[in-house]
Amino acid sequence: MQVDFIIVGQGLAGINLAHHLWQKQYSYIAFTNPNQLSATQAAAGIIHPITGRRLVKSWMFDEAYPYALATYQSMAQKFGVTLFKPLSIVEIFTSVKHRNDWYMRSSDADINYLIESEINEPLSGVIMPLGGIQLKATGYLQTTDMIKSAISSTSVRQQVFDFKQLHFKNDQIIYQDITASYIVFCDGCDATNNPFINTLPFQLSKGEIIEVYCEHLHSSYILNRNNFVLPISDNLFKVGATYQWQYLNNQPSIEARMHLAQMLKQITHLPFEITNHWAAIRPTIKDRRPVVRWQQKNVGIINGLGTKGVLLAPLMARQLIDNLPAN
Ligand SMILES: Cc1cc2nc3c(=O)[nH]c(=O)nc-3n(C[C@H](O)[C@H](O)[C@H](O)COP(=O)(O)OP(=O)(O)OC[C@H]3O[C@@H](n4cnc5c(N)ncnc54)[C@H](O)[C@@H]3O)c2cc1C
Repeated sequence: MQVDFIIVGQGLAGINLAHHLWQKQYSYIAFTNPNQLSATQAAAGIIHPITGRRLVKSWMFDEAYPYALATYQSMAQKFGVTLFKPLSIVEIFTSVKHRNDWYMRSSDADINYLIESEINEPLSGVIMPLGGIQLKATGYLQTTDMIKSAISSTSVRQQVFDFKQLHFKNDQIIYQDITASYIVFCDGCDATNNPFINTLPFQLSKGEIIEVYCEHLHSSYILNRNNFVLPISDNLFKVGATYQWQYLNNQPSIEARMHLAQMLKQITHLPFEITNHWAAIRPTIKDRRPVVRWQQKNVGIINGLGTKGVLLAPLMARQLIDNLPAN
């Protein structure tokens, strides 16, 4: 079988790449490992425009956000499902200093347009004696629905890609029954075992999320107080996420479960029940910037999306394709 591209990985990076290839009428075969939870499967999918204690706007936000919305809308039309749900984030003030920091920053022109309003009214079930601030340009991607639709394509093989069977011959790439012009590795944290790119300066972090059932908790906003509470359906919420750099595996841990439950108790006094729990590894690079490049003229990489995969993956896929080397 002759195709233009082989893609290794069907997380945010690989699915966005596949979508861009489809739009440009390139053919591809993609691989995804069905035996391991990817970062994309575990992700809450939230786009938050402002990050860190210093309340800095996310890298490339002004270009990446509108492009991400347009891409997910086009992908949703192709799949016939809703993927991105716009939903305001309310940052809950944790101290007078925290509130003052937000007030100071909200007058700065670079983030001023991302602030919707102050929230002084109590929200049902939410502990917020100092109030909060509502942000614009936020929402979440239903990552599991996106993956489900993407991998149902006949162009996707749910098989582990075996690097030993990959050969290069006369500028062509040969893998089992496939001959391709290009191969792009979108293999997330598993790139550490990829002999073609195993030198990326990763600083991987394990992340965990719980799902909780909680009645009467406000559900028109994503709440954020060090951790987020994302309403996903009637009385169901995702709460996360943890960061852990030592024990890098996909096993949900009791420590994270207890930590997240404790975090939720700082947001609400309402009773809740934990109904699910996920863990996966974020492919984070030391300098927190993604890696998007043609490493050889027919071997590409999209990786290092870190904590910003939903925002950055569409733009990074476009950048790789816009710089396609002649073959
Ligand atoms: C708990 C948690 C919460 C998060 N929340 C958010 C959030 O709210 N918003 C946000 O923007 N980001 C969030 N992230 C980060 C986001 O998940 C990542 O940035 C993004 O998913 C990375 O996508 P990726 O495609 O590079 O990697 P992955 O999603 O890990 O995908 C890698 C793909 O490669 C495949 N693969 C690897 N090796 C092989 C092989 N040999 N053969 C076949 N297939 C292979 C895997 O099967 C998988 O399909 C979160 C991450 C975690 C862990």
